[in-house]
Amino acid sequence: MGLLSQGSPLSWEETKRHADHVRRHGILQFLHIYHAVKERHKDVLKWGDEVEYMLVAFDHQNKKVRVVLKGEEVLEALQEKGERKNPNHPTLWRPEYGSYMIEGTPGQPYGGTMSEFNTVEDNMRKRRQEASSLLKENEALCTITSFPRLGCPGFTLPDCKPTPVEGGASKSLFFPDEAINKHPRFSTLTRNIRHRRGEKVVINVPIFKDKNTPFPFIETFPQDDEAAQAAQPNHIYMDAMGFGMGNCCLQVTFQACSISEARYLYDQLATICPIVMALSASSPFYRGYVSDIDCRWGVISASVDDRTREERGLEPLKNNSYRISKSRYDSIDSYLSKCGEKYNDIDLTKDKEIYERLLKEGIDHLLAQHIAHLFIRDPLTLFEEKIHLDDANESDHFENIQSTNWQTMRFKPPPPNSDIGWRVEFRPMEVQLTDFENSAYVVFVVLLTRVILSYTLDFLIPLSKVDENMKVAQKRDAVLHGLFYFRKDICKGGTAVVDGCSTAQNGTETDTEEFTLMSIDTIINGKEGVFPGLIPILNSYLENMEVDVDTRCSILNYLKLIKKRASGELMTAARWMREFVAKHPDYKQDSVITDEINYSLLLECNKIANELSECPELLGSGYKKAKYSGNKTGSSS
Ligand code: GLU
Ligand code: MG
Repeated sequence: MGLLSQGSPLSWEETKRHADHVRRHGILQFLHIYHAVKERHKDVLKWGDEVEYMLVAFDHQNKKVRVVLKGEEVLEALQEKGERKNPNHPTLWRPEYGSYMIEGTPGQPYGGTMSEFNTVEDNMRKRRQEASSLLKENEALCTITSFPRLGCPGFTLPDCKPTPVEGGASKSLFFPDEAINKHPRFSTLTRNIRHRRGEKVVINVPIFKDKNTPFPFIETFPQDDEAAQAAQPNHIYMDAMGFGMGNCCLQVTFQACSISEARYLYDQLATICPIVMALSASSPFYRGYVSDIDCRWGVISASVDDRTREERGLEPLKNNSYRISKSRYDSIDSYLSKCGEKYNDIDLTKDKEIYERLLKEGIDHLLAQHIAHLFIRDPLTLFEEKIHLDDANESDHFENIQSTNWQTMRFKPPPPNSDIGWRVEFRPMEVQLTDFENSAYVVFVVLLTRVILSYTLDFLIPLSKVDENMKVAQKRDAVLHGLFYFRKDICKGGTAVVDGCSTAQNGTETDTEEFTLMSIDTIINGKEGVFPGLIPILNSYLENMEVDVDTRCSILNYLKLIKKRASGELMTAARWMREFVAKHPDYKQDSVITDEINYSLLLECNKIANELSECPELLGSGYKKAKYSGNKTGSSS
């Protein structure tokens, strides 16, 4: 989750005093990088995935499952056995926000050849095996987006009580500070977000109204004024960064050939974010309740919203410089490529001085406003030892602001003095239960970038429409019922590079709008006379590529999963979990996820992940590639 510095973290008051210093030098650092590598051309696309994991422990006797707070210890052992012994070790492990989380990536980036698509799943399996092998018999490594009973009494092992008093990092009624990673970055972020905001973060997720759910659904928090004020009726109330950043996701980073290709990919993929997020939906439960949303996005967004009341528009501006319309964790606010310019219809708040400075340094308007927009934010953490830096050779101040702008896409300049190129990160996806599914989503997105580049496809629509899509995408069953703005003619200049691609020219159109509302099924699988569909385009690309039989077979299997999820033939994890709970004997149709339901659900998830249970509703049949020999079952028998 971004930059990890060692040292003594400063308080919010101290950090604030250095905010202009950090911004000023962050910009100088960016300029050094920009001027050094703006002309750089790489010939291959490189890429890599990131999977976030949770550690859980089953208590088979009492039918409970809890998150285990030993991420730091497991991480240390993984790094010691892996990358520190062997620089070519196939996996890399990193800390994540929760002290029950770790993050794994492939040891080396993947390259441009097709056969590498066939190694993704093996690498993910290796990661699962590697980390699982360090766990106890009753423990498991889970790829679930949100832990259903996060924040419920006794949800951690060891059992830690929340400390809703001054001095705590979260001051949460539900989420103990011990569940935050011990590295000072994470608790400092938590505390400083709260201090900057001037109050605890507020997350209200609509509750799913089942037959016996009380209506109105009201929880009272008489012991906590802030909570009593903030909790909304018919909503699940949460009050800590951990409820958001303690969720897991699946990300992909691409290295582009050049800065302009990176900007093009950034824009094109931004339009795809809500679509793939809805397709990957897997987080329907929060704080022990069934919610009415399927994706984590808005929850994390609220969980790190450090804007003051002035910035949120609740009070007139007095101490702050801007009204800011979004949290630091949110969708992107501007396109970066020339073709994106005319679709930039979101009001962009920017630091004027920084913007002018960047223009003066020869940076174009689009890139300058992007950076000047990121830099309206304050640094959230600063380490005493890291205030004065060598701007020509370090980039910590730039990274400080950049890496706490958690947006759907991230445009990443190369680190100073490295041979890494310009990169973009695709960040909206929810993590899936199995390595097969995670590989499928990753391969789908990577193939899409190949097709975008090879066929110069154009998905751009006004950015405000992408934002509307983001809202729809998080709703319950958005895959089945949501309608999304999507571009009708995606072949630039109308060149029909793919069969049926230039549908907008077939004369039946009466409106002149470039985009229209489509279902995910139409966008992914196509619809005669309306839209060619992303999967058919990928298939036709594949037909023209030389690919070995085995790899082709794997890719087709992955695409089949995406295709069936989009058509509704297979469920999203969110839908599957909802049905699992609905059918559970302990469920009272009251939207409550009891300890026992949670236990059964996670046990089943773990069996599916380890291929001990098949789950055709989620995965289809016959997807299995190789026998997985993992030995952690978490089962009681
Ligand atoms: N866990 C966060 C999410 O679900 C992402 C944190 C990160 O940027 O690594 O989006
Ligand atoms: Mg991460």
